Amino acid sequence: MKHLQEPTFRESVDLMFNRAVALMDLEPGLEEKIRVCNATYTVRFGVRLRGKIHTFVGYRSVHSEHMEPVKGGIRYSLAVNQDEVEALAALMTYKCALVEAPFGGSKGGLCVDPRDWDDVELERITRRFAYELAKRDLIHPSQNVPAPDMGTGEREMAWIADQYRRMNTTDINARACVTGKPLNAGGIAGRVEATGRGVQYALREFFRQEEDKAAAGLTGKLDGKRVIVQGLGNVGYHAAKFLSEEDGARITGIIEHDGALYSDDGLDVDAVRAWIMKHGGVTGFPDATHTAEGAAVLEHECDILIPAALEAVINMGNADRIKAPLIIEAANGPVTAGADEVLRKKGTVIIPDMYANAGGVTVSYFEWVKNLSHIRFGRMGRRQEEARHELIVRELEKLDDHLGDAWTMSPNFKEQYLRGAGELELVRSGLDDTMRTAYQSMREVWHGRDDVTDLRTAAYLVSIDKVASSYRALGL
Ligand code: GLU
Repeated sequence: MKHLQEPTFRESVDLMFNRAVALMDLEPGLEEKIRVCNATYTVRFGVRLRGKIHTFVGYRSVHSEHMEPVKGGIRYSLAVNQDEVEALAALMTYKCALVEAPFGGSKGGLCVDPRDWDDVELERITRRFAYELAKRDLIHPSQNVPAPDMGTGEREMAWIADQYRRMNTTDINARACVTGKPLNAGGIAGRVEATGRGVQYALREFFRQEEDKAAAGLTGKLDGKRVIVQGLGNVGYHAAKFLSEEDGARITGIIEHDGALYSDDGLDVDAVRAWIMKHGGVTGFPDATHTAEGAAVLEHECDILIPAALEAVINMGNADRIKAPLIIEAANGPVTAGADEVLRKKGTVIIPDMYANAGGVTVSYFEWVKNLSHIRFGRMGRRQEEARHELIVRELEKLDDHLGDAWTMSPNFKEQYLRGAGELELVRSGLDDTMRTAYQSMREVWHGRDDVTDLRTAAYLVSIDKVASSYRALGL
């Protein structure tokens, strides 16, 4: 539960922003210009469902238009409110700047519990919401490009794209009005896994840096590290799956809305996910210990804690009991400003949300570029790349024949080397590069300045500096 003294989510974001800005030398007024949300549009619309008119409340907030289009997801949840949407929009501005996705920040939300409605009803609600936003250019390929967030996914994005297309029948770039679409409706390979994949790439990069690991009191590789994940939705699931399957991490705890599972031997992420899909929660899962007190598992011993669900789950009420030396914020705003302070003093290293979960918007950027260029990545070059590799392999084969037992090609080398990169490989490569580069930019500030003692402040410094440069270039 939220602590009484706790600031709201938006205040938390502002406090963190202010902490960073105090260390910068921005011209008067620019600081406020960057901090405030430019505009938030509230819409109330009615949809006739089940024989009566239901009124829905939705928001689209635009935080900063230093670059256009502005970008950010649309979430469906009964907890959506203006304060939250504005906080999330601000985080989008900083996130995009940090990973150099050429967008301003925006966010949307609809007060609806998707579980209350069937598919046909949700489609009608979504199309109506999309209509309201599109008619005000709050969905538009060059102005404002939404994406999935909590409670929405590929299906909702397909409805939104189609709604926009119906309203703009001659717009050749209509598909670029939203990202996170299904592959057969203008989407891109690897978008669904992207945020979780980004969390994995972020941790890999962190573990490459001896100095950074030492700051958290960690050593060695990801292999064998104990990980607790909160939320096995799209982001938490993919992060946990990739870290356990590909990096040898041990998922020792999974926290869900109906409690948590833990096992020192490590949990089978796919089995837990399948159980949740079938039974609606983790309760009853056979191969682990279950506790109804889910939040208490955030406080268990582990090496890495991944909050991948809601905001403010680590707050002034539990911060001093968190034992993880490393927290990576897969969700937006999971650590309140108050908790951040407590953890910083304790020496906990936090990989901040605006970097940690930027994989989603990074691959959204690739999808948007794909839609505007009207061609799949890799389509032109793949076979040519393969043909050139074939030339080398043929020469190597000659050498292989000639040298006999003295030298042979490694098994699988030929097929691995010959395979040119398809869209998925290119997307992952672009995402990996983005995550590494952005991490380096943060850590340079973290280690390079005496007055910066944490990654979050470093991330804010890097991104605010970029946003400020854009405003200066605009002549503001
Ligand atoms: N909703 C995601 C986020 O918070 C993705 C946004 C996007 O792809 O535009 O970053």
